[in-house]
Amino acid sequence: MDPKAHSKAARRAGQIRRSLQSCQLCPRACKVNRLACQIGYCGLDARVRTFREMLFDGEESMLNPSHQIYLAGCNLKCSFCSVEEWNRQPQAAPVMDIQALAAAVDLRRRQGARTLNILGGEPAVSVHGVLELLATIDPSTTVVWNSNMYYNTEVAEALKGLVDIYLADLKCGNDQCAMSLLGVPDYLCVVKQNILQARPAGTVIVRHLLLPGHMDCCVRPILAWLAEQAPGVMVSLRGTYVPPAVGTAAPAVYLDPQELALAQSMASDLGLRLIQ
Ligand code: SF4
Repeated sequence: MDPKAHSKAARRAGQIRRSLQSCQLCPRACKVNRLACQIGYCGLDARVRTFREMLFDGEESMLNPSHQIYLAGCNLKCSFCSVEEWNRQPQAAPVMDIQALAAAVDLRRRQGARTLNILGGEPAVSVHGVLELLATIDPSTTVVWNSNMYYNTEVAEALKGLVDIYLADLKCGNDQCAMSLLGVPDYLCVVKQNILQARPAGTVIVRHLLLPGHMDCCVRPILAWLAEQAPGVMVSLRGTYVPPAVGTAAPAVYLDPQELALAQSMASDLGLRLIQ
């Protein structure tokens, strides 16, 4: 974070909080009054809720060990979500205690955390709480914004200079798959724009969880777009898909290792910078 991070984060947190009286933080544009306890698509009023914090070694190697802070509530409805219960009922998660979390950030750094990893759910729907936390922690902390990137300019602007690494989760390569798997109609144009706009603001890692059977409809167009529009960006292809327990539109099988090899070879052929 930059040296004036505390005052910047506190000021922006206040601005975002005020805007919650007609929330349009993301393209769902619910316009509910979250300050008056109204709840939008993400299932949250103005209170920010966290359900887990832990040290984790399973992110991209340059981020590990990573101190993960999970925020409840999301603006997508991914049919293969690994924390679906916290997004379906975010109100069940405890309200964020900023002082306790700031102490946890300090402790995890002393335990070896290299990065502070803000994820969810989707952190954009709780960005005011994230900013309030950033206003209290050591400004030398390396902050990772681990996001689906589906948010409006207001959020993108609020993060500038406060986030070191954007870990952008690009989930689908076309709007039809995004509609059926994530429940969102205008996914790609929003996410692509936010990825491109994040590049001057910090380091960007584009992560794609490979979906079984989605090589031609998703993987190929994602990689082609990255090669054309974001050459040099770091790309992380994840082969860790876990099929959901109940029947949904999501693939019901694990990824075939040959699909991972094919995706890696496509990325290499396009000159993309793959990271592990
Ligand atoms: S952040 Fe939540 S309430 Fe606000 S527009 Fe998005 S889904 Fe709706």
